[in-house]
Amino acid sequence: MQDRPTPAKLQTYKAYIDGKWCDADNGKTFQSFDPYTGEPWALIPECGAAEVDRAVNAAYRAFESPAWANMTQTARGRLLRRIAQNIEKHSEHLAQIEVRDNGKLISEMAAQTKYLPEWFYYYGGLADKITGTVVPVDKPDHFTYTLREPVGVCGFIIPWNSPLMLVGWKLAPALAAGCTVVIKPSEYTSASLLEFIKLVIEPLDLPPGVINVVTGYGAATGEPLVTHPKVAKIAFTGGSTTGARVGALAAQTFKKVSLELGGKSPNIVFDDCVIDDAVNGAISGIFAATGQTCIAGSRLLVQESIHEKFMAKLIATAKTAKLGNPMSYDTQVGPVTTPPQHQKILSYIDIAKGEGAKCVLGGGPAGPEMGGGRYFVQPTIFDGVTNKMRIAQEEVFGPVLSVIKFKDEAEAVQIANDVIYGLGSGVWTQSVRRATQMARKIRAGTVWVNTYRAVSFTMPFGGYKASGLGRENGLDAINEYLQTKSVWINTGSNAGNPFVMKTSSNT
Ligand code: NDP
Repeated sequence: MQDRPTPAKLQTYKAYIDGKWCDADNGKTFQSFDPYTGEPWALIPECGAAEVDRAVNAAYRAFESPAWANMTQTARGRLLRRIAQNIEKHSEHLAQIEVRDNGKLISEMAAQTKYLPEWFYYYGGLADKITGTVVPVDKPDHFTYTLREPVGVCGFIIPWNSPLMLVGWKLAPALAAGCTVVIKPSEYTSASLLEFIKLVIEPLDLPPGVINVVTGYGAATGEPLVTHPKVAKIAFTGGSTTGARVGALAAQTFKKVSLELGGKSPNIVFDDCVIDDAVNGAISGIFAATGQTCIAGSRLLVQESIHEKFMAKLIATAKTAKLGNPMSYDTQVGPVTTPPQHQKILSYIDIAKGEGAKCVLGGGPAGPEMGGGRYFVQPTIFDGVTNKMRIAQEEVFGPVLSVIKFKDEAEAVQIANDVIYGLGSGVWTQSVRRATQMARKIRAGTVWVNTYRAVSFTMPFGGYKASGLGRENGLDAINEYLQTKSVWINTGSNAGNPFVMKTSSNT
């Protein structure tokens, strides 16, 4: 564990534009807080539209520069593998910076930064396998093929819950495709990305402007990036309300957009499950990461025939959660990342109580006497929830579980799909028939059977309905950063009527 600096010794960071470290033009900064101590620990430049414009122009120049545009796909692949190797060297340090900024457990953040190189190895391998196709066209004497080309400058907008992982999910396919990027991290968690640039990217000596970071607030820094005419694509992760605004703004300049948004994911426990596994799955679905994850299994649907037995085990296990310093490897539940988020979670606990849900565990802030501190919330379970309640419909983004009973498969599907979201879902059963039926019927981007919160660089990830657009990870993700060009070469004569379009009927 690192020493925590006193406020007098705040660490100063700079933005990264056109291959240079820089302050905001007006010299303004804002403080980044450690959610565990509640103390400020870093100073971050408060960039705005002017810095975003410089960063986008730098990325645009880089995109067109011979040094980047003429780099072979194989060389880009090699570059991504070097990024992976540099992350491996610094993964523990990067994880510690993330914990200091977002208060999530070191065990989770270190696992994420250790795993992150795989994205760069995977997309590094894919870089020189991006191919167009020769298309058999319905006209004689024509040779027709497609080119798969990078879209151009990409803007990434990143939230605070898993900053580097969510940058990596976008950066690896974008660079493999040949794009250049401008990244706006969350105002709460800018430091790990700036350390990543210093330790992982700078030693590579990339052409200036290929990767830029502008730090600042959502509207003041994020919106100029979303509306900038030279940005061709926006990849956003965050809340659905912000995502809808980002999508609408981006549409004004016809940008390609991918949105990874919120969820209210059903974790469905059938009476033929292995109960101990399902209890662990339910806990990891909501209390891991203090519930601050878009795929949180925040609605636990339990078949009524095992409800009593299951709840007894669930509560007994959840009670043992060790709250404390997120920098300790044995802590199981850490603080909430931001003060507004802390307030929001507590207000949802009040809403649930007001709606008549039965609080069977927790139900309030967790002070030092419970192992917590200023921004802690007790692991909280509400039983007797109905799917119409706000606590079942709205994303809380905290350690608050809503338990809903169901009779049979049909009712489980109906409840699971009766929300605006469709990101994750879990099914706990030993029946293959039931598992495959449920996997087809649930309207969500991911269905986990007898597991929860598993992700991989090879598996597409994204949302149905209000949970988003587009896919990250796997082969699908590379398409988010490419566009298709059709090339027609006439190998014959130009005979025919020049005033009529060449369709199959007149060739
Ligand atoms: P936001 O959606 O507000 O923020 C996500 C990112 O968007 C941040 O970088 C934020 O910057 C930026 N942003 C905010 N407003 C704008 C804007 N008008 N234009 C462009 N960018 C903008 O999420 P919050 O961090 O405030 O969290 C709110 C809710 O979002 C959570 O309660 C949760 O429900 C959900 N969420 C979902 C996540 C997911 O993984 N799907 C991750 C995080 C949050 P800044 O931080 O500087 O405001």
